[in-house]
Formats: sequence, C-alpha cells, structure tokens
Amino acid sequence: MEQIDAVVIGAGVVGLAVGRALALSGQEVMLLESENAIGTGTSSRNSEVIHAGIYYPAGSLKARLCVQGKAMLYAYCAERGVAHQRLGKLIVATSSEQVKDLDGIIAKAAANGVHDLQKLTAAQAKALEPALACEAALLSPSTGVVDSHGYMLALQGDMENAGGLLALVSPVQHIGVRQGTVSHPIRVCTQDGTELACKVLVNAAGLSAVAIARGMDGLDHNLLAQAFPLAYFAKGNYFTLAGRAPFSRLIYPVPEKAGLGVHLTLDLGGQAKFGPDVQWVEDPADLQVDPRRGDAFYAEVRKYWPALQDGALLPGYAGMRPKINAPHEAAADFMIQGPAEHGVPGLVNLLGIESPGLTSSLAIAQEVCVRLD
Ligand SMILES: Cc1cc2nc3c(=O)[nH]c(=O)nc-3n(C[C@H](O)[C@H](O)[C@H](O)COP(=O)(O)OP(=O)(O)OC[C@H]3O[C@@H](n4cnc5c(N)ncnc54)[C@H](O)[C@@H]3O)c2cc1C
Repeated sequence: MEQIDAVVIGAGVVGLAVGRALALSGQEVMLLESENAIGTGTSSRNSEVIHAGIYYPAGSLKARLCVQGKAMLYAYCAERGVAHQRLGKLIVATSSEQVKDLDGIIAKAAANGVHDLQKLTAAQAKALEPALACEAALLSPSTGVVDSHGYMLALQGDMENAGGLLALVSPVQHIGVRQGTVSHPIRVCTQDGTELACKVLVNAAGLSAVAIARGMDGLDHNLLAQAFPLAYFAKGNYFTLAGRAPFSRLIYPVPEKAGLGVHLTLDLGGQAKFGPDVQWVEDPADLQVDPRRGDAFYAEVRKYWPALQDGALLPGYAGMRPKINAPHEAAADFMIQGPAEHGVPGLVNLLGIESPGLTSSLAIAQEVCVRLD
C-alpha cells in the first residue's frame, strides 16, 4: 500500500483550497476527485458572489470565515490575476417596515467586523441605480463577484506547483481508521482498488461529506452518533433575465424570515440572474429547474424593479445546498470536525459547507491547517 502524508477528498473549491494549503505547508498531498474534472459539483452551481459577511450569527464560523475569506480572496485574485469585480451590493427596503430593519442589519454586520455599510435614502439609491424602486437602502461596497472556475484553476496550479497531485475519476469508496501509534493510520480506498495510507485525511466531499464521514470504519460510533449530523439537501433555482441587466450592482431585498429573498446577482459578463430560491429535496442529484417556480419570482422582483416584463425570466440552472439541519430547524453553521471533536489525529471532516463556502474557501483551508496542528 502506498504511503502519503495527506489525502483530500473532493476537488471542489474547498478541497482545492485545502490541498493547496497542505501542499504549501510542505506535505505530500493527493487530492482525489470522483468526477473527470475539478469543480463540477456545487462549486460550479452557485452565484459566484464574494459575500461581505453581513447576516451570519456573530461568533459563528460562517461569520468569521466569510469575513476573513473575503479579504484573502480579494488579495488572492489580485495576486494571481483571477477575474473578479468589487461591484457592490444594495440591500433594498421596499416598505416602511423594512426601513426600520436597516439599522439592525448595520449592527449585525458590525458585530461580524463589517463596518463599511452605508445607509442611503431612496433618492441616493436611485441615483446609483435608476431602475430601482425602494424606500431606503444599504450599500455594501465590499460585495463582489469572482470567476469561480478561474479561481479553482489557480488553486489547482498552486497545489501542483507545490508538489500536490490531483487524481480525477477516483471516487473514494472506503476509509478505515486505525487507533494507536501507527505512522500512517488512515487507509483510503478508491473504486479502482487503489489503497493509500495517510497521516492526514480531509473530507471535503461536499454533498457526500456526511455520508463519507458516517461510513468510516474504526471510529467510535457511539461518540459519533451524537457528533455526526444527518444530511439534508436544499435546491436553489435560478431564473435568468432575457436581455440587458437593468442594474450594475447586486440587488438584495431586506431579508425576510425564510431566507435572503429573491435577489439579483450579476456575472462578470453583466448577465443578470434572480435567485436562488429554497426547495428542499430528497435527491441531491435533482438539479432540474421547474419553470413554474419562476411564477413566484415576478411579484417579489417587482417590489424593487417594477419594470420587470412578463415572460422576461427564463429557467436557468440550479445548485444544491449541503444542509446539516432539517427544514424546520435553524440554519446550521459550517461544521469543521477536527481531532478535538472526534479524537482521531489527522482527520478533518468539512460538513454543511453551503454559502458562503466559496467566499470562505481560503479561510476554511487555513482553519483546517490550524485544527490539524
Ligand atoms: C445555490 C447556491 C448558491 C451559492 N452561492 C454562493 C455564493 O454566491 N458565494 C459563496 O461564497 N458561496 C456560495 N455558495 C456556496 C458554495 O458554492 C459552496 O460552499 C462551495 O462550492 C462548496 O465547495 P466544496 O468544495 O465544499 O463542495 P463541492 O463543490 O460540492 O465539491 C465536492 C467535490 O467532492 C467530490 N466528491 C464527492 N464524493 C466523492 C468521493 N466519494 N470521492 C471523491 N470525490 C468526491 C465531488 O465530485 C465534488 O467535486 C452557494 C451554494 C449554492 C448551492
């Protein structure tokens, strides 16, 4: 059996960032990906937004890693020439009730270390975005968009330059953990029968990460029955706008109880899309967009863009959120399980890495290295 310092499962944006960080720290790294290309999972089915870190509960991993990750990602994109734009985002209040919520959002952001939100009157907001209808707004100047595929290619390049190896079409099928003082205690087997013994294993398998964590042999399952969450899946459907985008910044309604509301994001080419909505599903492979779901978008979008024409929204694509909370439960934080949580030296499970996982990816990789130290 071949021995190697570190194995990472999953070449999405998080696994690539972790593989890069481990390789740069001088470890031999093998990154195993089941598909025939990098980033074909959730990492290529998202909004590509660099989030500011406004809404997450203070003190959560999502809040801390988003704010750290945002700064790291902007610096990385600038250094490595990855396409990105700091477009800014408007959070728009479309009723007097929502205007009252804006100060609460400013306070929440400040608690997370985001101090750059600017309060705008309706006239100031309209001066920035003439197509907008609102009563007041907040401008988040540090929100942006990134070419996620270009970013992942840069991470892969860094990892490989530092000696890391990427193995595509290599689905991990079985993991065994040996307790005691063995030099390479974790055994990873892929579908083609390859076996690797490693000191470090990072499970960054996205939608499959919970199943992989729960299927490991040799863990104390009594302890882990409580520590391991169950996996749930929530599809996010997008509808694209036929024709030119009416806005040059991202537009988000003031969040309602059920989520961030139907918001407008732009890609680097200026194409506008609305969504994602939230549709809980059983099957993580269910990525079809039901065109009828678009009907509910019109009324929501017209609250801040009354000029939206009937028939202008076209079914786009969908992404799948790897949830670790049931639909009726409060949204869970990222779960980064290191040796301190499960007692296995060298093992880190990354569970529930939904949004803002893209923004946070470099900070998550840094956190993994800390947990392994
Ligand atoms: C609708 C939507 C919108 C989002 N928008 C944003 C946004 O605007 N900004 C932001 O910051 N975040 C956003 N996110 C979150 C972000 O996309 C994810 O957090 C991030 O892509 C997760 O990356 P990952 O590497 O953990 O997972 P993935 O990209 O899913 O990668 C996991 C990889 O593991 C591989 N794999 C699975 N099982 C195995 C196995 N057994 N063996 C080997 N390989 C395996 C898969 O093939 C896959 O390539 C959004 C998410 C969704 C769903």
